[in-house]
Amino acid sequence: MKKVLVTGAAGFLGSHLCDRFIKEGYHVVGMDNLITGDMANIEHLFPLKEFEFHYHDVSKFVHVAGDLDYIMHFASPASPIDYLKMPIQTMKVGAMGTHNLLGLAKEKGARMLIASTSEVYGDPLVHPQTEEYWGNVNPIGPRGVYDEAKRYQEALTMAYHNYHGLETRIVRIFNTYGPRMRVNDGRVLPAFFSQAIRGEGLTVFGDGSQTRSFCYVDDLVEGIYRLLHSDYHMPVNIGNPSEVTIKEFGEEILELVGNPKAKLIYKELPKDDPKKRRPNITKAKEILGWEPQVSRAEGLKRTYEYFKKAVKVDETVEG
Ligand code: UDP
Repeated sequence: MKKVLVTGAAGFLGSHLCDRFIKEGYHVVGMDNLITGDMANIEHLFPLKEFEFHYHDVSKFVHVAGDLDYIMHFASPASPIDYLKMPIQTMKVGAMGTHNLLGLAKEKGARMLIASTSEVYGDPLVHPQTEEYWGNVNPIGPRGVYDEAKRYQEALTMAYHNYHGLETRIVRIFNTYGPRMRVNDGRVLPAFFSQAIRGEGLTVFGDGSQTRSFCYVDDLVEGIYRLLHSDYHMPVNIGNPSEVTIKEFGEEILELVGNPKAKLIYKELPKDDPKKRRPNITKAKEILGWEPQVSRAEGLKRTYEYFKKAVKVDETVEG
């Protein structure tokens, strides 16, 4: 039985990855320090003998007993308000956490895949973004703690690959959504769904003309699973190229939820908010034979089912 360590196991993406590896017959070691993760996301795995959980901060020395075949590094605060609240921890998990895990991978002879991000492109001057684009990041702006930690993470991973011959994979993840997103994580989709369900104003930042391209979580997990098992060590974009303005996105959610009390309201645009973002997925198509299967209409419907249960109608949400 192959054994995989998933860091950030109690998080949105980490928990979906744990499910996938369990389904594929792996032994899964989940690790999380629960600063943004939620045990509810993995509680269903605890009865399984193929699953074990370690409560641990990977920016400190990491050890896992016995053999290890794969490491998936998905631990990190991942929403702008989280990494603004936890700037040092965000840098530590991307930098020191990655270093510890690369060391563990080397020790065990494991293959390591890191969760990088479209944020390495910053506020991009090339559109759509190809993997060759070096990006436009403000290192000392509010998002710099996340963006630069992830850029350092990529650089360190490439160094371990080139210098130590470690087997590494780098996925650049574009905005992803689906069940298990935290209601209060501050990202646009949880904010809009909660506000629409509660009949509040949907907080559009700026004039809403900025764009994002949203990928449903099952598509993302499929792309990552294929990348892990490919023989390609350079970064690969995984995301859905269907691009939408934030204003249109708000309107789509308003229509889906159909709460007559909810409407769009406008708030100040946060500093360094990227004006547009859309992945070029030619590499993923050619190398992995992957492209998204779930349309935004379908993905939003499935995600709405989750938010209907997750949102407490008498609470307000940060937006
Ligand atoms: N956004 C918004 N209202 C919110 C939260 C976010 O209009 O309540 C905007 C944000 O300014 C950005 C986009 O939605 O342009 C996506 O933001 P998110 O925090 O989800 O992720 P990002 O892609 O910026 O990392």
